[in-house]
Amino acid sequence: MSVAVSHDQASGNNVANTSSLLRTYLVEEVIDTDSEDFVKVVHNGNAVPLLALEDPLYNIAQFLCFTQHIQYFKNDGAVFLSDLQDPQIMMEISGNKNIFGDGNVGKVFTLFPKQHICNKYCEWFKLPTVKESGV
Ligand SMILES: [Zn+2]
Repeated sequence: MSVAVSHDQASGNNVANTSSLLRTYLVEEVIDTDSEDFVKVVHNGNAVPLLALEDPLYNIAQFLCFTQHIQYFKNDGAVFLSDLQDPQIMMEISGNKNIFGDGNVGKVFTLFPKQHICNKYCEWFKLPTVKESGV
């Protein structure tokens, strides 16, 4: 993922600075999900790894689930990232203002404390369980 910025050159000033900044974009590589090399390890519909315990990538899936836990903990239960190959911000938003698109599955966000299973990374970082953290 990269950051791209565009500047206003209409003023004739070719020096990019903060006053000429027009837009900032997050740019990411298109992921070919049809490729046989693509493996989805966690998605935004569930907070547990999609891979079997014996899968060679299971360790990566555990680490990514740990990152969800630490994000959830550090933000007092307000937000975490899911669908980590194509990141999706997950949070509960009141009303109809879902500014993070259809991938922000509110039901899954509220289920996170029940679905997340702490693993060796959560334990190594001495994270309180989601229930212990009180969020
Ligand atoms: Zn955990």
